[in-house]
Amino acid sequence: MTILDVKNIVKIYGGSSEEGSTTALGGVSLSVNEGEFIAVMGPSGSGKTTLLNVLSGIDTPTSGEVLIAGQELSEMKGDDLALFRRKKLGFVFQDFNLLDSLTVKENILLPMVLERKTTTEMEAKLDDLASIFEIKSILPKYPYTISGGQQQRTAVSRALVNEPAILFADEPTGNLDSKSSAVIMECFEKIVNELSTTVLLVTHDVFAASYCQKVVFIKDGLIHSYIVKKGSRKEF
Ligand code: ADP
Ligand code: ADP
Repeated sequence: MTILDVKNIVKIYGGSSEEGSTTALGGVSLSVNEGEFIAVMGPSGSGKTTLLNVLSGIDTPTSGEVLIAGQELSEMKGDDLALFRRKKLGFVFQDFNLLDSLTVKENILLPMVLERKTTTEMEAKLDDLASIFEIKSILPKYPYTISGGQQQRTAVSRALVNEPAILFADEPTGNLDSKSSAVIMECFEKIVNELSTTVLLVTHDVFAASYCQKVVFIKDGLIHSYIVKKGSRKEF
């Protein structure tokens, strides 16, 4: 089933400014199935951030459509869009974005607390995620006392607690050494395989992209080419 359907997205910045305009996206179409693990790669300035912002409802396209789980993003405004983003989308960033005043456990459960989930639901979810991400021992700790890799695994767990239809990961390995990068990419692989989570990764990191089933290359705001892998990443 298609979970993300992107139809001919154009994004032009500064259309009315005197310095002229920048076409950040020149007509991008993309279809992502449920449970797919996809990477978007491209040089700096190619439009990756703009694409991610448009797909996740942070920015509106100049033209084109984005459907997530059958819902057209541009048809939602204000509170409805905010609610949709909170319930249906998960986000992971390069710099983790954890709250230092909360423990790992509290950080992970925060989105569930905001959704007023029951303690039983929260404990069950925490148990599942802590075993997938191997973070049981650090649950009572504070973010500034754990490693970068552990912080990122905490951030990914937090992004998953409300079972998003799609998880957007923007350079998630950008601040990690190669060993921690491998661990986090294996975690993404696990959630794709075991929880059928859909993950869209935006990255410069070829090693990270090698874990994905499909790699889309963008250049000058257009999809330039893509690679679909057959089996494990060894066959890439
Ligand atoms: P990437 O993430 O691949 O580095 P971006 O999406 O950030 O690419 O940028 C694509 C193009 O759009 C670049 O030429 C960039 O300078 C331009 N751009 C991005 N955001 C803005 C903005 N808010 N206003 C004007 N131009 C922008
Ligand atoms: P990255 O390299 O991580 O993709 P960028 O440095 O390209 O990030 O962009 C960071 C932020 O600045 C983005 O939100 C992008 O939309 C914005 N931006 C990029 N280029 C421009 C620009 N020429 N004018 C205004 N904002 C821009």
